[in-house]
Amino acid sequence: MSNCDQIQRFIFDNTDVRGVLVGLEESYQEVLATQAYPIKIASLLGEMLAAVGLLSSTLKFEGRLSLLARGSGPITTLMAESNHQRDLRAIARWEGGIPEEEGLASILGQGQLAITIEPDKGNRYQGIVPLQQSTLAGCLEDYFQQSEQLETRITLAADGSRAAGMLLQVLPASEQSADKDSEIENWNRIAHLGSTLSSRELLQLENSELLHRLYHEEQVRMFEEEPLRFGCDCSRERSLQILKTMNSSDLEEMLETEGSINMDCQFCNTRYSFDRTSIAEIQGLSGAVGPSDSQH
Ligand SMILES: [Zn+2]
Repeated sequence: MSNCDQIQRFIFDNTDVRGVLVGLEESYQEVLATQAYPIKIASLLGEMLAAVGLLSSTLKFEGRLSLLARGSGPITTLMAESNHQRDLRAIARWEGGIPEEEGLASILGQGQLAITIEPDKGNRYQGIVPLQQSTLAGCLEDYFQQSEQLETRITLAADGSRAAGMLLQVLPASEQSADKDSEIENWNRIAHLGSTLSSRELLQLENSELLHRLYHEEQVRMFEEEPLRFGCDCSRERSLQILKTMNSSDLEEMLETEGSINMDCQFCNTRYSFDRTSIAEIQGLSGAVGPSDSQH
């Protein structure tokens, strides 16, 4: 897989089918380096990252897209997120040992997958599907079928060092050609060939070779690769915003016992530390804008 840490979109000429390939290596490694993840979780996180990479190719505005799986099983939370600049981050929460050979249903248990799209300007959108399939890719296909009514095939793979994904999708109705019958035929053929792709091929083949192997009889047009990377947008300012919402006696108590207030970012392990002076400053700041101070 030479197309690492990149997204590449492609289309099948003279059909209503589009596709996206994503490959992650360094970005995936950086996510895994933040915590000692069990092997099974490391591979699921890779699939989550590949999935948000694929889905981020559909973002047509500035903002972020996240995938959040929550369940009642040993893995309680899997989360991955991408912004429009393709900074990806991910995290998992779990309890106890994680069996390596179990399917999604038994390690996440009863639960749901939420796809959230948050434009910087505009309304937040959330779609939710139950975790009823044995793979994350299957759950995402359910989502597209139910929420968007778009025929979609998703293949995801991750092995702890690389992660990759391929998405095939019929164009939205507004962009489709008039000939329904031949389009159904095109979709069935392309989707069927896509389903023959193995995890090994997806993880190891360069994009052009992979597409040639699957679709040498189709006219595939590949667009330029777009880079993606590990990135966390946590900041001291954001941490301060959270502290500002806490009540001052709680902050005082933490300062008394710890000497300072530490906030650790769960995505990148950055520690933001606040001493008495900086806490006094935010309290002064919030006091200054409060109504009780405006009488002078
Ligand atoms: Zn962070």
